[in-house]
Amino acid sequence: MTVNQPLKNYINGEWQVSSASNYLQVVNPATTEVLGVVPLSPATEVNAAVVAAATAGKVWRQTPPTERVQYLFTLKNLLEASFTDLAETITVECGKTLTEAKGELRRAIENVEVACGIPMLMQGYNLEDVARGIDEFMIRQPLGVTAIICPFNFPGMIPFWFLPYSIACGNTVIVKPSEKVPLTMEKIFQLLEQTHLPKGVVNLVNGAKEAVDAILDHPTVKAISFVGSTPVAKYIYSRAAANGKRVQCQGGAKNPIIVLPDAEMETTVKIAADSAFGCAGQRCLAASLAVTVGEAKDSFTEAIANAASKRVVGYGLDPKVEMGPVISPESKQRIENLIQVGIDEGGNLLVDGRNPEISGYEKGNFIKPTILQNINPTGEIAHTEIFGPVLGLIHLDTIEDAIAFINSGEWGNMACLFTTNGAAARKFRYEAEAGNIGINIGVAAPMAFFPFSGWKASFFGDLHGQGRDAVEFFTQTKVIVERWPKDWSRQF
Ligand code: NAD
Repeated sequence: MTVNQPLKNYINGEWQVSSASNYLQVVNPATTEVLGVVPLSPATEVNAAVVAAATAGKVWRQTPPTERVQYLFTLKNLLEASFTDLAETITVECGKTLTEAKGELRRAIENVEVACGIPMLMQGYNLEDVARGIDEFMIRQPLGVTAIICPFNFPGMIPFWFLPYSIACGNTVIVKPSEKVPLTMEKIFQLLEQTHLPKGVVNLVNGAKEAVDAILDHPTVKAISFVGSTPVAKYIYSRAAANGKRVQCQGGAKNPIIVLPDAEMETTVKIAADSAFGCAGQRCLAASLAVTVGEAKDSFTEAIANAASKRVVGYGLDPKVEMGPVISPESKQRIENLIQVGIDEGGNLLVDGRNPEISGYEKGNFIKPTILQNINPTGEIAHTEIFGPVLGLIHLDTIEDAIAFINSGEWGNMACLFTTNGAAARKFRYEAEAGNIGINIGVAAPMAFFPFSGWKASFFGDLHGQGRDAVEFFTQTKVIVERWPKDWSRQF
């Protein structure tokens, strides 16, 4: 795959050359091959997209929901037909394995399918005779122009937590993909073009901070959906909210899994390894801390070290490979620095994945699975998102201690428990302060018809992505109180 020309923006139904003065290279993280050049679009191009979206929205909101979802049915079929090509593009620009890329695309399609139910999901409710002869209705109306700002780690899935719901509800959309992985979204917009959606309903603006700031400050943009790191999530939430917009910002994470002595150890270790090292640990639902309770310590530690050492690392297009590279040399350096922080804090490097030799891919951004034992529960590394294939091990005496540890942290994206004891499982799901809970599950990613429920520093806002929350987020309620007396003189 080679792209010679800078990527174009898709505005008002046309592919447009950006007038950007700054560009970035898009680089395959395994091979370091340059895949393309992405423009850092200026504010004027965001404005052009907003104008197109606002104009299209006037007609789009009047299009019956049953007609609006026909475009989504078409999109689903196009996504299925391009499934392998899109998955390969994700692997090539993002680094994850082809199986992982297919997994994220399946969730993307699932969100399209759920949004096809908008004629039901978007309905309001009503009550006759709230007073004699007076009826009251709640209806949902679209917001107008909405914007989606995406991270690098799920280029195919995350835009679909929002886009299908937004347009099905009668809004129009601007997508700003991550500048590190813009090729997947270009292909998805080629498919959106083939659906023959009216011009301006969906728009694509490539770029970075300047484009984001233009979205945050544009008075015509009514709602912003963001997924990315917590510092940027906080910035976007506060600036967009100060500008009067509806905002949902999903941020970073530090996800603990708790292993009780009665857990089925072989399965637990397999699931824990997949969670910690899948997608090279670059998942917001990656397990990054394993807390062993009581006698679980020895058996889990030995088996997870074994699983980490055996994991096959390499280029994600190779079917034998179980884990790909991290996204960039800067990211690799940051992860290695954090491993050193863990060692400096007294951690024991049980499995060292730094600077591996991956035959044929010597320049790629590879780190093999790494395990740090004896993490200090109050130290920096127990509370810092590493976003790489590094699992920290902590040992505590009781499930109460483990829950207290989880709840003392600032994050709240996911917490998981491994046990065969139903009462322990119930206590955990009842008390653990995280928005996504796994019981004998390592990546508790909600299906498209449930909200992606981060808490605490992992989420800013109230309505989450996906499912009914998305329908609520992309609509505003209007309540009508109505009186139609037959005889006006007798009514008053
Ligand atoms: P990031 O915050 O660096 O970038 C996300 C987006 O914000 C990109 O589109 C980028 O262009 C833009 N951006 C970056 N800095 C900006 C700034 N200063 N001003 C305005 N815009 C800016 O995140 P990333 O590295 O692409 O993604 C990884 C992060 O995303 C991790 O922290 C991960 O946990 C998080 N994440 C969270 C979830 C979730 O559901 N909670 C899901 C996936 C990823």
